[in-house]
Amino acid sequence: MANKAYQFRLYPTKEQEQLLAKTFGCVRFVYNKMLEERIQIYEKFKDDKEALKKQTFPTPAKYKKEFPWLKEVDSLALANAQLNLQKAFQNFFSGRAGFPKFKNRKAKQSYTTNVVNGNIKLSDGYIKLPKLKWVKFKQHREIPAHHIIKACTLTKTKTGKYYISILTEYEHQPVPKEVQTVVGLDFSMNTLYVDSEGKRANDPRFYRKALETLAKEQRILSRRKKGSNRWHKQRLKVAKLHEKIANQRKDFLHKESHKLAKLYDCVVIEDLNMKGMSQALHFGQSVHDNGWGMFTSFLQYKLEEQGKKLVKIDKWFPSSKTCSCCGQVRESLSLSERTFRCECGFESDRDVNAAINIKHEGMKRLAIV
Ligand SMILES: [Zn+2]
Repeated sequence: MANKAYQFRLYPTKEQEQLLAKTFGCVRFVYNKMLEERIQIYEKFKDDKEALKKQTFPTPAKYKKEFPWLKEVDSLALANAQLNLQKAFQNFFSGRAGFPKFKNRKAKQSYTTNVVNGNIKLSDGYIKLPKLKWVKFKQHREIPAHHIIKACTLTKTKTGKYYISILTEYEHQPVPKEVQTVVGLDFSMNTLYVDSEGKRANDPRFYRKALETLAKEQRILSRRKKGSNRWHKQRLKVAKLHEKIANQRKDFLHKESHKLAKLYDCVVIEDLNMKGMSQALHFGQSVHDNGWGMFTSFLQYKLEEQGKKLVKIDKWFPSSKTCSCCGQVRESLSLSERTFRCECGFESDRDVNAAINIKHEGMKRLAIV
């Protein structure tokens, strides 16, 4: 079984908007209530792990008696709030995340509902959802007939747009494809990647331009008096730009990963630790903007869908310092050396040399050399 999510813009009526706002609020309310109780239980038993495990934790049903208005919204949304809180605690206990936090009004306006007994249906530009009934949406792509809808997540963005993400499940066992074409990618700060053929990702100029505009508008925002009309107006402008840029970036990463997954049977990348990297090199913002993590996850599922492979090689592999021609490893290579030169006479663009080494290392892994 494989999963795939489809995202569409939703166009709720005024009435539906009200119910959505109420549902976001109820989900947040229930989440915080349950968290409050769990904190009390946790404080009481935190020194006795076994006893802590045996405690019964609060459920949304419990609050419905005390707060009957909770019954007016989708009960599955509330049930998912409980699951999310459980996950937050599991992540905390396993050391993957900090202690769960309360959700304030600024938290993401979102809830998830599930398919139960055909409660969710699609028909002619409308989607039927629990409590909301038929909501208009823009279905710009078909969900294949063999995909089964499992859950829907509804979100309101900061600029007041509504989106629905439809999670589907489908039977999928791709036939492993024999690897004939391999490409290596070297992560690049400026252009996302440089490949072993010497090609670079198409430079998204529009994107860089949009970033400049964003920086400008943010400076204007910082000069406005907080809470004033003009500040609110400017804040909305900045939020809109943020959304636009995020969408453009996602679109760009989809296109680039699609292109590679179509051209090659196997893509080799370095397993970079982005967090460590941005801290170590002070690249901060730009590494995250570059969306390498998002890009490689798109690449992975696009390859796997076709029975193809994404190979990640050790991040300590000296891809930049190795000569891709003779294999000799140089002792040092400064960041300013854009051209790689070896004693053997080999000369190449630094990033292309690295990408070729990454490709070779991946092929060794696959034992196809
Ligand atoms: Zn050499």
